[in-house]
Amino acid sequence: MTHFNNRPVPLIDLQKCDGCRLCVHACPTKALDLRNGKAFIANSLACEYSGLCEAVCPTQAISRLFEIITK
Ligand code: SF4
Repeated sequence: MTHFNNRPVPLIDLQKCDGCRLCVHACPTKALDLRNGKAFIANSLACEYSGLCEAVCPTQAISRLFEIITK
């Protein structure tokens, strides 16, 4: 699980990201932006884990990971 300030954030595979900016526009809380042609989490506190970025990404570069908790 990827965390930032103890909050889960989507994982971005920079090898796959082609900088199309679709995720930046899709994010309802403006948590994403582009830097050096690649997506990054610009505001991790804004991320509500909606998954819209994951849905629009044409290269599967951005994904939400879920932690499986076993007892
Ligand atoms: S939608 Fe995917 S390929 Fe496009 S900028 Fe976002 S992470 Fe990169």
